[in-house]
Amino acid sequence: MTKHIFVTGGVVSSLGKGLTSASLALLLKRRGYRVRMQKMDPYLNVDPGTMSPYQHGEVYVTADGAEADLDLGHYERFTGIPCARRSNFTAGQIYSAVLSREREGGYLGKTVQVIPHITDEIKEAVRCLDGPEVDIAITEIGGTVGDIESLPFLEAIRQYRHEIGPRNGLFAHITLVPYIRAAGELKTKPSQQSVGILRSIGIFPEILVCRCEKPLGKEHKEKLAMFCNVEPNLVIEERDVAHSIYEVPLDLARQDVDVYTLEKLGLHVKPLDLEDWETMVRALIEPPNGEVEIAVVGKYITLRDSYKSVYEALTHGGIANGVRVKIRMVESEKLESGAWEEHLAGARGVLAPGGFGNRGIEGKIRAARFAREKKVPFFGICLGMQCAVMEFGRNVCGLAGANSTEFDERAPHPVIDLMESQKTVKERGGTMRLGAWPCALAPESRARHAYGQNEISERHRHRYEFNNKYREQMEARGLTISGLSPDGKLVEIVELKDHPWFVACQFHPEFQSTPLDAHPLFREFVRAAVVKRG
Ligand code: GLN
Repeated sequence: MTKHIFVTGGVVSSLGKGLTSASLALLLKRRGYRVRMQKMDPYLNVDPGTMSPYQHGEVYVTADGAEADLDLGHYERFTGIPCARRSNFTAGQIYSAVLSREREGGYLGKTVQVIPHITDEIKEAVRCLDGPEVDIAITEIGGTVGDIESLPFLEAIRQYRHEIGPRNGLFAHITLVPYIRAAGELKTKPSQQSVGILRSIGIFPEILVCRCEKPLGKEHKEKLAMFCNVEPNLVIEERDVAHSIYEVPLDLARQDVDVYTLEKLGLHVKPLDLEDWETMVRALIEPPNGEVEIAVVGKYITLRDSYKSVYEALTHGGIANGVRVKIRMVESEKLESGAWEEHLAGARGVLAPGGFGNRGIEGKIRAARFAREKKVPFFGICLGMQCAVMEFGRNVCGLAGANSTEFDERAPHPVIDLMESQKTVKERGGTMRLGAWPCALAPESRARHAYGQNEISERHRHRYEFNNKYREQMEARGLTISGLSPDGKLVEIVELKDHPWFVACQFHPEFQSTPLDAHPLFREFVRAAVVKRG
């Protein structure tokens, strides 16, 4: 039988529930258990795909093509356990399923209500992780306890745990223990109140993970244990990490949170081996080969979460090369006027990530030109690749006004155009080319060299593509098409021969990079930046 852990968050948002859940999952996996994870988001969008990155941060894409919460990125990076569509549910999805069923006559004769119909649907979503191949399922509830919109989710997990019994499920609550500088004290009251809210709706957390910036003293732990009704050894300190999020599992392991969790669930405590993780964290904190600076030229730079997986993958590329990657975040619009080159000067590599819409495009194109002409390693991803192709069209092939039809429907040279399969698509939600698709690599290419194999699978999220009408012309001027869909129709990777390292791909390699196994393209890009640094 699959055992369940439900993770809630209290006091404030942004406590890193996703990181904590992922860290716990890593520890349980390393103790020999088969773990699956999922996130419940209480908002009403069916998925985050239609939200602006400023609202939501990055939209993560699973191999099976779900547009999902960025916490799934933490889950996959920490545990290596693949997420799928069933790893993320939103209130919108739940309501939409119930309402469609109502229209189909699935509830004939009944009044359709939040309880039991919505809560039943949520329980079904939790249950879909169950199975003989899963020992432990971790369900993280988004939002903060006390929010009106998360109530149906909390009620559903309360019922779920009641049905499976206390040995088969447990509640972990992540809370904040703030340090009040003026008083020089840590305060436990907000956590007590947050647990109070949970208890008033019938949820009694057994693990209390306390986010704090100062160490929790014995007296704080005892107080929290007493007033939150939690065993003292299950009041866990999760202090702000000094260097990297990858330290979190090590901190939690030191407090045996995994041991107590397994004991609570009546599971055998098998040995834990974290040696490779420890080695990785050490390499990250004290890299033997110093630092290298890389400029990320994006459209949504002010919000760090917008490019979460890209920044993480760069860090992984750094670990693989024994360097610390210092990221210089450059808002692409800043490259459109004034002394724009200053923003790129000195960077040993330029990365142009994905995005949508016209704003800042000319800045990205300039970044690609700068990197091409100055022989600075360049890595384009999705929109970043499209901009590199526009730049090459304009400035190498002499195609004045070369553009993507996303930005100029009447472009004289639509070198990037809407995919054929997208031309009839009207609805906006979940209709892009999504998820993992195979790609064949050209022999002798940089891509082939990086991956070390002929065929790869990468995740996509786009509507526009390289326009095949310009293939020959661009190849004749020195653009190598090094990755194609197996039917040869879609250009997936382009690169430049006469350049230290210029690779751009239509897919999102950042979603498959992990700290223990950096993505080959990120690894090679960072390597090229280190060579450039000298
Ligand atoms: N806007 C571009 C497209 O739809 C690029 C998308 C992306 O960068 N994810 O093709």
